[in-house]
Amino acid sequence: MNYGLYIHVPFCARRCPYCDFYSISALDLIPRYVAALGREASQAAPAWPGPFETLFIGGGSPSLLNREGLTGLLAALAPLDLSGLKEITLEANPEDVSPEQADLWTETGVTRLSLGLQTLDERWLSDVLGRTHAVGQSLAAVETLRGRPYALAFDLIYGLPSQLVEDWGTDLSRAAELGPDHISTYSLTLEPGAPLARTIAEKYLPPLPPPELVADMFLISGQALAAKGFYRYEVSNFAKPGHESQHNLKYWRREPYLGLGPAAHSFDGHRRWSNPPSVRQWATALDSGADPRNLVEELDQPAERLEMIMLGLRLPEGLPEDRLASAPRLAEFIESGHLVRSEGRIRPTEKGLLLADRLAVELA
Ligand code: SF4
Repeated sequence: MNYGLYIHVPFCARRCPYCDFYSISALDLIPRYVAALGREASQAAPAWPGPFETLFIGGGSPSLLNREGLTGLLAALAPLDLSGLKEITLEANPEDVSPEQADLWTETGVTRLSLGLQTLDERWLSDVLGRTHAVGQSLAAVETLRGRPYALAFDLIYGLPSQLVEDWGTDLSRAAELGPDHISTYSLTLEPGAPLARTIAEKYLPPLPPPELVADMFLISGQALAAKGFYRYEVSNFAKPGHESQHNLKYWRREPYLGLGPAAHSFDGHRRWSNPPSVRQWATALDSGADPRNLVEELDQPAERLEMIMLGLRLPEGLPEDRLASAPRLAEFIESGHLVRSEGRIRPTEKGLLLADRLAVELA
């Protein structure tokens, strides 16, 4: 079995006001984190004989790790069979990119560098998103990374307070012209407790654009990026052919993946579990030889079917037709142009991808 391996690096220099990922700024805990990661890898190895095919080092801010931190992290994974790795992704913030770090990522075998640009429009970057980098640093980071032996992926956010469809189109085109191989586009969603949600509620910033406008931004993303040689291979992800994220495809195709580190999630093909979102709680459990996992969910048949349809409809490849043979409202969604039947599969159109989750609930 070819598994995916996800490592959550839960450290950031500072919290961004919209972020919902688990991270802390206590960088002095990195050595303890690396040691506990080694214990977790040893604990997991018997149930995950491998080989692992993809490794995704995400966070948090993995690009904060210096040579000692990153090589320590990779050494901690020695109990796992990584001999078949075909893809190693590392997430990086523009402000962490330097020629030295770029050399380190080359030496450690990174094949994809995922750069969190977020936006190339200064109006939103610091005042709204609270990022610590400036647009100039993003551009400099891209130049530093150009010509390295890894593919370049960008993360962008749209649906920002007072953003217009034209603004997003311009941002996207600027990013595409920098020559990445992959672009992920996420619409800004805020948990009620997020500091940015409070700033907007207290009217220090304009509200998020209405859903119709966000839908238009979603649809123009496909058109704008198609003109630059990208295709949408998942609801939020665009690649030049051959540069799709093999690791993330495992999530959407319901293939097994192991997640290590605090707040990491895993799926073994039937059960899902997650680690506690706390470095101390997670490391303390591992230090004492205990199992750190705090949630194991065994999917029953209806839940498994809903998940299979929901994930399948995130991909333009869709699902084999026979899996939806008894689905209610299938004919209606084909008639309305949200789904098409082709080559034995039911595939979502662009309009269908926009509503993938809602369609899945109706079809399950
Ligand atoms: S750098 Fe990324 S992971 Fe860290 S707080 Fe900001 S958005 Fe969240």
